[in-house]
Order: sequence, then structure tokens, then C-alpha cells
Amino acid sequence: CGIVGYAGARPALNIVLDGLRRLEYRGYDSAGVAVVTTDPDRSTPAARDLDGELLTAKRAGKLANLEKALQEESTAGLALGTTGIGHTRWATHGGPTDRNAHPHRSADGRVAVIHNGIIENFAKLRAEIESTGIEFASDTDTECAAHLLAIELQSAEGATPGERLAEAMRAVCRRLEGAFTLLAVDVQAPGVVVGARRNSPLVVGRGTGENYLASDVSAFIEHTREAVELGQDQVVLISGDDIVITDFLGNPAEGKTFHIDWDA
Ligand code: GLU
Repeated sequence: CGIVGYAGARPALNIVLDGLRRLEYRGYDSAGVAVVTTDPDRSTPAARDLDGELLTAKRAGKLANLEKALQEESTAGLALGTTGIGHTRWATHGGPTDRNAHPHRSADGRVAVIHNGIIENFAKLRAEIESTGIEFASDTDTECAAHLLAIELQSAEGATPGERLAEAMRAVCRRLEGAFTLLAVDVQAPGVVVGARRNSPLVVGRGTGENYLASDVSAFIEHTREAVELGQDQVVLISGDDIVITDFLGNPAEGKTFHIDWDA
């Protein structure tokens, strides 16, 4: 239902939660966030080699339930990470429960995915994924995309971890039917959020040293008024400094750049 993503230098969690609050008017039945951290102690060579962490929290019900969970759980890492995604869900496949709330993670824990819309061919994809021995943790159509992304990442090519995540996203999107706005983060690509869209909206917010993704500009309007609307069947990679858009085949593409001049 509502989608927000952030990549930059500031802690992502509160920016993402504020964005979700801005989208609350759409109605939703559950909410969740995922944050990627890099190791905070970079002072020793050993620490420099450590991967960051991918941390998620999600709850059925109002954003207040998620915020309460964030206070109760061990959330130090969640508050630290500067790459994050957040979702408010309007359930279509699977009841409005904690386990069906987004983000959904791949079985190996490597990626987290949020999704608006409906993946029409999910039953076929789910059967195919389950036949490889992967167990599903939810009843959603969305979870297929998380597992497929992790599978594609094993062979995705690209010069950087972020480019490999975008390449894997394109491969997944070529297999999905229906309507989707998807955002994904990968623990091996800290600093990057990848998004995709078909028959469902996705807008980029261009900041200074930070960039945003959202289903609606109202999610980031307090931070920037420079926006890029993605076209049909496009994939976007954002980092703090970059916005890279392609079609589902990897050809360079352009969204529609515009300035938001109405009052928030
Ligand atoms: N079809 C997905 C689900 O039921 C996404 C629903 C939405 O757009 O929030 O989990």
C-alpha cells in the first residue's frame, strides 16, 4: 500500500517511519521496516572486513504497534543504519498478521523486499521455489520475489554489489506477472536500495548526498521537491550519490523529472 526507501548518510529508520506516516491516509493493516547497517567500528582492519547487518521489524495493526515493537526489541542496529525501506500493507494474499507483514526476507536472510500490488503468477512461482527445498515464512504473493531475488543474486553480474542487486531485480521482474512496486535491500550492498515498477507507481526523490523512493511524493516532500517518476517496467538503483534507471532488460532508461511545487 505505502512504500518508502532511503539511501544516504543519515539514520534511515526515522526518515522511513515519517514517510510511512505521511502515507497513512491510504489505509493499511500492518507495517514494517528493514535497515542495512555497516559495521560501526571501522577502526581496525578486521572490523573493516565485517559485513553489515540486515535488520527487520514488522507488526500487524497501526504504525504505533511497530513503533512500540521498535522500542521493545533490540533496535540499536536498526537506529544506526543509513539505508532503509518501509511498508504499510493492505493485505491481498494472506491475512493481516505479523508474519504476513512486509518486509519479507529470502530464506538465506540476505535480502528484504517490500511490495505493493499483486503478483498474479505467485502460485506457480511458489511451487517452483518450494521444489528447491525453500520453506516459505508467510502466505503472501510477495515472498516469492524475496526468494527469487536471492536465487538470482547467486549468479548476477555487475561491477558493484549494488549493480548486481539491480541486475537480479531485473531478472526477477521479467518473471513476474501482475502489478508491482518492489523495493529491495541486500546485506551485501549496504548504501543501496533497488526499486522496480509495473502497473503500480514509484517515484524517486533527489536529495543532496541522499535519495528517496516512494509510492507517492508526499512520503519525501519535507526533504526534497526534486522528483523523478519511473516509467512502466523500469528498475532504479539509488545510493546517496546516484540514481540509475534501466528497463527490465538493463538498457539505460529515463524517468520523468519534475519539481513538486504544491504545498505539502
Ligand atoms: N499483495 C501483497 C500482500 O498481500 C501486497 C499488498 C499491498 O499492496 O500492500 O502482501
